[in-house]
Amino acid sequence: MTYRHRAVVGLLLLLLAHRQELAAQASRGALARETFAIADVSLISMAVDTVLSDATVLVRDGRIVATGPSRSVRIPRGARRIDGRGKYLVPGFADMHAHLYSDDEVPDSVAPYELGVMLANGITITRLMMGTPEQLALRKEVESGRVLGPQLWLASPEFAGRRYGGAAFKGYAVSTPEEARAAVREVKAAGYDFLKLTLFVTRPAYDALVDEARQAGIKIVGHVPPEVGVPHALASGQQIEHLDNYLEQVLADSAPMRVSVSDRGVFQPSNWLSLDFVDDAKVARIAGLTARSGAFTSPTLTIFKNAFAIGQSEEAVRARPDWKVMAPGIRAAYLAANTRYWANPPSEARRNRWVEVRNRLTKLIADSGGKIMAGSDAPEWLFTYGWTLHRELESLVSAGLTPFQALRAATRTPAEFLGASAEWGTIETGKRADLVLLSGNPLQDIRNTLRIEGVSIGGRWLDRARLDEMIRVGGELVSR
Ligand SMILES: [Zn+2]
Repeated sequence: MTYRHRAVVGLLLLLLAHRQELAAQASRGALARETFAIADVSLISMAVDTVLSDATVLVRDGRIVATGPSRSVRIPRGARRIDGRGKYLVPGFADMHAHLYSDDEVPDSVAPYELGVMLANGITITRLMMGTPEQLALRKEVESGRVLGPQLWLASPEFAGRRYGGAAFKGYAVSTPEEARAAVREVKAAGYDFLKLTLFVTRPAYDALVDEARQAGIKIVGHVPPEVGVPHALASGQQIEHLDNYLEQVLADSAPMRVSVSDRGVFQPSNWLSLDFVDDAKVARIAGLTARSGAFTSPTLTIFKNAFAIGQSEEAVRARPDWKVMAPGIRAAYLAANTRYWANPPSEARRNRWVEVRNRLTKLIADSGGKIMAGSDAPEWLFTYGWTLHRELESLVSAGLTPFQALRAATRTPAEFLGASAEWGTIETGKRADLVLLSGNPLQDIRNTLRIEGVSIGGRWLDRARLDEMIRVGGELVSR
């Protein structure tokens, strides 16, 4: 081999290693050594906006090795055959905004079982939005296959402008640009995937965060400080959760106030008066700006709508599967907070208007070509992880998205956001076998995403009996 040949081969090996490294970052879970075929199924690959009826998907060693019309996919002898007749196969779901009870209220040892409850609900990718060192360890356990759970992406501990909430505050208080920069370097070095912003961050500290984060190669996600505002946050490349600060952005110029009902603003009765001053032209304008900026938006519609606009009775909450997977202290605290809020609620007209504006923002962002991601914010406010992601898909459809757009918000779009499109997000040859088998067509009725018959995580097949067991055990441990 000549010197030039060796150089070329060396370069190719280097490129290959780089590709493998990228693939490893995009695939965060072990691959199982199983071979099975889901045969004669209606396939919703999410690569195209159609259902391929009578399809077969062959899985080997954790990956999809063949997919297509049943007559063209040969099932090898000895492979397990899962009957897909009358059923629908979709990619595993991503919950782009979740937390764990074990972050706080229950022991760290319960975390793997919490992940099991998510997985049993078809969630194969989870972004935990308030990081802890324990989560970094948990991510390693999932990657190595010692813990069976969704692939994990982790936001950092929170960045706030000052400490708040007493002993519960475990984040970084960044009041100066210098503090901000040092903290960015720390969370990047620790291995978090994102930098999570919450409250009280000043404009100088924010701009320092943005600049340092860009240099470190870490994205900023979360809330928008009021003095930063949505347009500047979008221009800075931030990914915004909850449509935070959008309501303030759409107040008419003539409105007598500048505050509205974003985030903790829901608890300020006077803030609700602002709903009488929403300028619909501004709603369309900020939605267009969001789409053009290329930003990804997770509006978390369900939790806001049900907690603060529609309301939920204790009876209804107790009847939901969430109740059994809820830490007792949390149940009591949220029930008390729920009673407090509803003792003196905002007017029904303003609550309805609020939901309407948030829905309209979501729909217009999607219609303008923007990228919507499904996130539950579970297990906040009596909504537990797993089930709440499915309610969010339903909320996205109520907001005017098509069922296909809603499904995309929990599959392809999160993959795109996380740089993982080559690994998952659609059902295509070569990708991870993260799959959910449903007994109803979710494109006809989005609620069918809950009718789960089986889940494949990294090519490990979990049937309904196994999923029920995971929910039962997780529930018992959390609520002990
Ligand atoms: Zn959250």
